[in-house]
Amino acid sequence: MDKNQITIIGGGLSGLISAYLLAKAGKSVLVIEKKSYPFHRVCGEYISNEVRDFLIQKELFPFSFEPAEINTFRLSAVNGAMAEVPLGLGGFGISRYHLDHFLYQKCQEIGVKFLLKTQAATIDYKPDRKIFEVTTNEGHLLTSPIVLAAYGKRSKIDKYLNRSYLKHRSPYVGIKYHIKIAHEENMVALHNYNGGYLGINKIENGQFNVCYLGSREQLKVAGNIQNMEEQYLFKNPHIKEIYNRAEFLWEKPEVINEISFATKSPVENQVLMIGDAAGMITPLCGNGMAIAIHTGKLAAEAILKHKKLEMIQKEYAKAWNQYFYSRLRTGRAVQRLFGAPFVSNIAVNVIKKSPYLAKKLILQTHGQAIK
Ligand SMILES: Cc1cc2nc3c(=O)[nH]c(=O)nc-3n(C[C@H](O)[C@H](O)[C@H](O)COP(=O)(O)OP(=O)(O)OC[C@H]3O[C@@H](n4cnc5c(N)ncnc54)[C@H](O)[C@@H]3O)c2cc1C
Repeated sequence: MDKNQITIIGGGLSGLISAYLLAKAGKSVLVIEKKSYPFHRVCGEYISNEVRDFLIQKELFPFSFEPAEINTFRLSAVNGAMAEVPLGLGGFGISRYHLDHFLYQKCQEIGVKFLLKTQAATIDYKPDRKIFEVTTNEGHLLTSPIVLAAYGKRSKIDKYLNRSYLKHRSPYVGIKYHIKIAHEENMVALHNYNGGYLGINKIENGQFNVCYLGSREQLKVAGNIQNMEEQYLFKNPHIKEIYNRAEFLWEKPEVINEISFATKSPVENQVLMIGDAAGMITPLCGNGMAIAIHTGKLAAEAILKHKKLEMIQKEYAKAWNQYFYSRLRTGRAVQRLFGAPFVSNIAVNVIKKSPYLAKKLILQTHGQAIK
């Protein structure tokens, strides 16, 4: 094994982007990924155009899938009141099934190595030897001068690292479907209901993504997903109408729980945390994927610029705080406006009466386009 090989734990967007950039610059890179591509994951699949030029420039934009072009935002309150506003930067819609698989293939083409269907179980830094030791669930021991934690919002390994956000349980569940429906193709719509919110937008192949952030407690009370949707989500007439008109393409939805928006840190236990592992922005901001891509880029740049681990950590942490700290904080504040009758109504009225203010709020949670 190459003793200079960089190990990346997790092959989602942040992990794949940093793997690609590092390998392109001549580094030896290994990605450990728990699953095997292609696979579906819970995500609204609307990507902010913040990262469009960057992806095009690196030849990583998935043109061949003809992603949907999205430039309008629609919001409905719990009672069905509705408003629309143009999206400044806008974005595109593509399934993670295809996007992640496409990036995986791009990484393979330039020599990134993958350990698939393998989970990293432990990470330890050995200061005397200046190396990290990573063990897998199959008992393999890997050593590496740098480890990137790109394993998403929550992983068993966080328990091993004793990360503080684990002290609180999350009240949310995330549920996703792919559907066919006659719906505006250039629009991302967010429909509130008492307890959560549901997004819908076009992806590739004439399909739409329907994804919602719901309440774990409501799911428990309702007993199953269908009952929960009928009892709670359908109170918003727009959600009910979507379900009535849609052709659902899967037998069962993708489901996740324990979605935490708690504060984390970009460097913990000497490890560079990228993507959701460093902190997750609320899905209603629609740019967790752009942030994951941007953090993957920043981590790769810091590694390519410095030799010493300490300098890499310093540079990455500084950049992370500069770009994302206040965006994630605003995201947490905005999250409180959604999923409740009174405040969701106010949010709709703000958009109706002051599109300028609405645009400003959207800008607060978004960054500049990156190159
Ligand atoms: C309900 C919901 C809707 C969302 N909608 C949107 C949206 O519309 N637009 C948007 O931009 N963002 C959205 N997001 C956020 C977005 O999905 C994430 O921010 C983004 O996927 C983060 O990328 P990542 O690389 O950090 O992690 P991920 O993409 O989650 O990848 C992490 C990878 O690590 C692997 N892994 C985990 N543990 C281990 C381990 N121990 N060893 C090896 N591999 C491991 C996992 O299998 C996974 O492949 C949404 C999130 C939720 C919950």
